[in-house]
Amino acid sequence: MKGLFALLFILVGMTAQGQQKGNWVVSNVNVVDIENDSLLTAKDVFIKGGTILSIVPHKNTKYKSFAIVDGTGKYLIPGLWDNHVHFGGGDSLLEENKNLLPLYLAHGITAVRDAAADISPAVLQWRKELSEGKLLGPRLFTSGPKIEGINSIWIGDIEIGDEAGLEKAIDSLKKLEVDFIKITDNTLKPDLYLKAVQLARANNWPVSGHIPYALTMKQVADAGLTTIEHMGYLLKAGADDVISNLYSKGFLQGREVMPLALAVFDTAKALATYRYLASKGTGIVPTLLISSITSNFDNTNHWNDSYLKYLGTGLKNTYWWRIKRAAGDNADAIEMRHRVFEATASLIPLVVQSGMTIIAGTDAGYLNSFVYPGLGLHLELELLVKYGLTPAQALKASILNGPAYFKLSNKYGKVEAGFAADLLLLDENPLKNISATQKIHAVMKSGNLFSRQQLDQILNEVQIAATNSKFKPITQ
Ligand SMILES: [Zn+2]
Repeated sequence: MKGLFALLFILVGMTAQGQQKGNWVVSNVNVVDIENDSLLTAKDVFIKGGTILSIVPHKNTKYKSFAIVDGTGKYLIPGLWDNHVHFGGGDSLLEENKNLLPLYLAHGITAVRDAAADISPAVLQWRKELSEGKLLGPRLFTSGPKIEGINSIWIGDIEIGDEAGLEKAIDSLKKLEVDFIKITDNTLKPDLYLKAVQLARANNWPVSGHIPYALTMKQVADAGLTTIEHMGYLLKAGADDVISNLYSKGFLQGREVMPLALAVFDTAKALATYRYLASKGTGIVPTLLISSITSNFDNTNHWNDSYLKYLGTGLKNTYWWRIKRAAGDNADAIEMRHRVFEATASLIPLVVQSGMTIIAGTDAGYLNSFVYPGLGLHLELELLVKYGLTPAQALKASILNGPAYFKLSNKYGKVEAGFAADLLLLDENPLKNISATQKIHAVMKSGNLFSRQQLDQILNEVQIAATNSKFKPITQ
């Protein structure tokens, strides 16, 4: 792998080192204004030292000391953010996970938010090396190990059983300088969950989480949760008090929650809850792609997807976990999965109406079958549009709301002077057709330019590294 990245640096002109940040002018380009859903045509965009310097009307002149990138007929947008990914699967998969970093970049993903797993020390090291320009890949924001209860099914968490444990956990996360806090609910007690959210917020972190079914969305919003991860909780919000009450008294099993939520869903109640969440600043990361894929395991075979060539065998082997879990389902359970997914995804317009912040993320990474690192975010955007967002709203969910989560809106997410030169040059207008995000002509990261040819070369190298996996494939 070391050889691979050394070779990459030569191929892409050593730009990942960060020492040769180019002075560029993207000339005569259509600048996409995502916030206002409009185009600024015929602009020259100047970039110096990794930052956008200025944007001026196009002039047919050569600018001294700025290399020209011809933007004629092309569309310039800020780099994409995948705001929910995972790196994990144990230390034996470190290299395969590391190989995902250039894969993200080659798909125009210039920032990822890692929502915890079991290889946090490595992820924190990559975050450092990426920020120093020593590794090729997106900006990396990470929660480090997430907070859970004692003896949960997840590996790599900080497990807490009481308030003293919580305080110790927060202290250790401070030392790791994590970017946000992730909390899940497999064995974490509801009252301790709320205290964890409060303490993390009191320490100025944004907090994301799965939510114990015994708690209502209103309770977690009051505690200060920044984002709810996964859309299913907003289906439950249509009967929140009833379900939380039944669940906390032991009258409901976890797998009975979504079917019941679907059966008794009350639109007015849901909208009122979403409005409350919006008023408290609690947003949603829908992760529609993973739900769409897992709910359709029965009718779609992904094992021939050409994208699998970019993933190491060890990572692909982790895909069997979800497939096996779903394999025991009978026809009724499969039908219910389809219905729950459709009902849940169809809530997107109601969420928009409420004013809640929507943040685009995929859940790409180990375990999450066929939710592909890189391509996945583009498919998530397509799903968000399919279920009711305009292309501009979908782009905003990735590009503007990602940085806003970290209070970095003054630095990332806009093609404006003073903003980071993390940019995509597209062949088609993404405001007209969201799939245009996949027509990437060039990527710029921190002012370093990667042409289409260089991006293809990166993809080629990723594929070669993936082929050299030390693992044998599991076939069932
Ligand atoms: Zn996740």
